[in-house]
Amino acid sequence: MTTESTPTNLRFLIIGAGMSGILSAIKLREAGIDNFAIYEKADRLGGTWRENEYAGVACDVPSHLYSYSFSPNPEWTHRFSPGAEIQAYFEEVARGYGVDSLIQYGKEITRCEYRDGRWRIEMTDGSSDEGDFVIAATGVLHHPAYPDIEGLESFGGTTFHSARWNHDESLKGKRVGLIGTGSTAIQIVSALIDEVGELSVFQRTPQWVLPVENTAYSEDEKAEFRKNPAAMREIRDEIARQFVDGFANILGDVKSPLLELIHTTCEANLNDNVRDPELKEKLRPDYRAACKRLIMSEDFYDAIQKPNAKVVVEGIERIEESGVRTSDGQLHELDVLILATGFRVDRFMRPMEVVGRGGKTLEDAWDNGPIAYLAISIPDFPNLFMLNGPNGPVGNFSLIDVAELQFSYIMQLVDRVRSGSCKELSVSQDAMDRFDEERKKAAKTTIWASGCKSWYLDADGVPAAWPWTFDRFRQEMEGPRLEDYEVK
Ligand code: NAP
Repeated sequence: MTTESTPTNLRFLIIGAGMSGILSAIKLREAGIDNFAIYEKADRLGGTWRENEYAGVACDVPSHLYSYSFSPNPEWTHRFSPGAEIQAYFEEVARGYGVDSLIQYGKEITRCEYRDGRWRIEMTDGSSDEGDFVIAATGVLHHPAYPDIEGLESFGGTTFHSARWNHDESLKGKRVGLIGTGSTAIQIVSALIDEVGELSVFQRTPQWVLPVENTAYSEDEKAEFRKNPAAMREIRDEIARQFVDGFANILGDVKSPLLELIHTTCEANLNDNVRDPELKEKLRPDYRAACKRLIMSEDFYDAIQKPNAKVVVEGIERIEESGVRTSDGQLHELDVLILATGFRVDRFMRPMEVVGRGGKTLEDAWDNGPIAYLAISIPDFPNLFMLNGPNGPVGNFSLIDVAELQFSYIMQLVDRVRSGSCKELSVSQDAMDRFDEERKKAAKTTIWASGCKSWYLDADGVPAAWPWTFDRFRQEMEGPRLEDYEVK
């Protein structure tokens, strides 16, 4: 399908119908733009929240903050609401704004090429489209990382990744093995412990756990939110300020006293709440709190101390038909093995083949790892803008706020083209190099570089996330510095 466009009728191709894709469609319509398509590879919207249906899935950003600013939700049941509620929220918002019916499902883009001033996309079903702008709303953590462990395929029981939860498999009374101790695994432990027969957690690295209570909103509070949306907005602003000042702004400063406070709070949580001294030491990390993604949980230590829970710290040697063999020679017999082993965080738009100006491929551009100016633009990929692309404040703040800020910034670039003052914009190579150099320099003093391994680090061990304060990100998003762009 090809639709002609003029400077006032430019066509947008939105790739992905998760949080950012839905946002893009709503905001384009708000700007009076109807000439767009939203392509989604799956058969349902929701992105992360569609894909992650594991036991205990919830968001560790407070729900009233993890909502679109323009669509507050009085019905959140908890301070940190479960994944299914978040999925239902996105479905409801998409329906409410009339963008759900615009999503074209089962459309996986395989190729996206800039030719003669326009983007042409091809899909797995043989269809194609053309547009002036591409909004890559393709998400961050969505390609499951499967561990490279000998014999994984020889396991005789059921195996699945946390992001590919097997709902047909009842875990009741079973001997369950869980590989990983990231945010996902910790939530799974709390959710499953009372259901399974035995839970063996294979821990390669212990985690600091910040005790954060997950209170439920009362019916009275929800009624007040329904009656008085301003109260919800106030709560959102208040949570946002606390989150920014108490967390997002300090991650870039390893010496921050607030980071020290988070560390001592985590330490006290471990010391005060884990009784068995041997288990306590198994669970004690040897790095600073928040170096890895900080775990927030009110009940993990309770769950892991139940008689049917076991923390296995000996390394996994191999997986056999009946279970996991560890380096001490022990065989841990299992019925089910869950891989909470995270995601391939360097994928972004890939495996889509993206070809920019002069035949430059994304693989070429990202030869040394994914980078993007302000997590939005890449040199020689004109009029292609990412939401929550590489080097953004992932892990610092609500990705919804990040996407909203980025979208209004992108619209200011788009308006240059709409007004006829230029045809294409992409960050200049100079500005990209400068940004990357400054980012890497700033990354050295972030908490993520304080001596641990995590998915925040790139292949060279440099933190890839936004290293400055969130306030600085907000400021950058106020308006593009056009001198940083190659404008044609
Ligand atoms: P993750 O943080 O990357 O954790 C993966 C876990 O698997 C780690 O404990 C890792 O050990 C372990 N692992 C990987 N390969 C292994 C192997 N071969 N042998 C043994 N252990 C292995 O992944 P995640 O827990 O899915 O979380 C990813 C991100 O998703 C989070 O950091 C967060 O940003 C997001 N998330 C958010 C929420 C939320 O509440 N908002 C919930 C879940 C996830 P090492 O630590 O030793 O590498």
